[in-house]
Amino acid sequence: MPSHWRYSLLLGEIDAWCARTGSPGVALLLIQLSGLEEVNSRFGYPGGDRLLEEITRRLGAVGRAQDRVLAVNSRTFALLIDNPLHESHAVLAADKVVRCTAEPVVIGAAQARIRCCIGVSRLPDPARSAEELLRQCEVALAAARSRDEPHVVFAPALLAAPATAGSYAWFDIEEALRAGEFEVFYQPQVDLRTGQLAGAEALVRWHRPQAGYVPPGHFMPAIENSQGIRAILWFVLNSALRQAAAWAVQWPGFSVSVNLATGNLSDPDLVDIVEDALNVWSLPPEQLTLELTEGSLMENPDASARTMGRLRDLGVRMSIDDFGTGYSSLAYLRDLPADELKIDRSFVARVLAADRDRDIVASIVQLAHAVKLKVVAEGIEEAATRAVMAAMGCDYGQGFHFAPPLAAPDFAAAWIDRASECKSG
Ligand code: C2E
Ligand code: MG
Ligand code: MG
Repeated sequence: MPSHWRYSLLLGEIDAWCARTGSPGVALLLIQLSGLEEVNSRFGYPGGDRLLEEITRRLGAVGRAQDRVLAVNSRTFALLIDNPLHESHAVLAADKVVRCTAEPVVIGAAQARIRCCIGVSRLPDPARSAEELLRQCEVALAAARSRDEPHVVFAPALLAAPATAGSYAWFDIEEALRAGEFEVFYQPQVDLRTGQLAGAEALVRWHRPQAGYVPPGHFMPAIENSQGIRAILWFVLNSALRQAAAWAVQWPGFSVSVNLATGNLSDPDLVDIVEDALNVWSLPPEQLTLELTEGSLMENPDASARTMGRLRDLGVRMSIDDFGTGYSSLAYLRDLPADELKIDRSFVARVLAADRDRDIVASIVQLAHAVKLKVVAEGIEEAATRAVMAAMGCDYGQGFHFAPPLAAPDFAAAWIDRASECKSG
């Protein structure tokens, strides 16, 4: 096990090490792990330690006898390669590191996975001092993270790369999650027959300390195909299930809906992530609904249907979100393992304006019922729209007419506490 080093100690170590070995050159790999929080929370801190021990052992086996592994902090390691024969030597080592960290680590009867990103630089070319070597490695690491590439070798051009305003990389998201900048808001879903609360949709909220509120539409697309999309799902799912389990005590049967992004659908661990969260928070699976937009389902219809089927086998309800925007065929709808259809708010908004639009929405409700799907009308903003949708036999309504998405305490005060007071009073 390497002892723990801070960056300043690492610099001294690089200098001393070069002097001691008389090394004509050294390559530095700065290896940053991500996903440790998930492991700690799933397996506890001893599980996290077990994983770090195993990763340290594997890193030690990557280099040659004269190379050295240092733990810079609990999620960053440095691999010093003595006298690399060529730049490709360091790249080969980086490849090995990526492969060996991606292998699952067995903890008890389960398997934990972790990911890593690596910055690579060399001394004396291009770096001329230990400090420059470390600085260049950090620049390369940042580039690897923002491009979502496993490793990047430092090149002077990286220093000139402009940061694009408004674009976010998955590591921004992971940092912000760690810093507690994310929160989950809840928007009520109301039974249109009884007017009673049926559940809530969990919606992620990002408050940046300087920039303020960043809407999901501004950062979700940027991280759609990166590791950040799993981190968001993990956070929202676990927050929502913890909250729903607490509210279900006051409001038996309270159910929560969580959005899945297109990128979550292709995650091989998706079903495990959902199953683990249900086990941790002990919410009956039928009280969780997972929403998938019609558009994301249509990107890969067969694979999506298979994944939905596996999630549904857990007992979870599946919902087709933003229906009407994704051009799916009705035959496809019939065969989909779904429980619910949410009519997109662009259709709901028009039911008051034109008979034709009202007829279209009415036939969607009928068709959905014919294939045993419950129907939610999204974006109900007025009492009149609510009345029309209720008259069509639509099951549930959601929208500003009932309430906007609310922070958990506000949601509880407005819906959960008020209703349980009525019941007990
Ligand atoms: P969505 O899942 O269709 O969520 C409903 C969106 O409509 C929310 O926007 C909500 O604030 C908004 N909304 C609700 N009622 C009304 C209304 O009466 N009128 C209008 N004009 N809008 C209404 P939000 O929170 O900005 O989220 C936008 C989209 O971002 C969501 O659409 C969803 O696709 C995505 N999203 C939000 N949170 C998450 C999340 O935790 N995970 C994932 N994967 N996607 C999320
Ligand atoms: Mg949704
Ligand atoms: Mg929607």
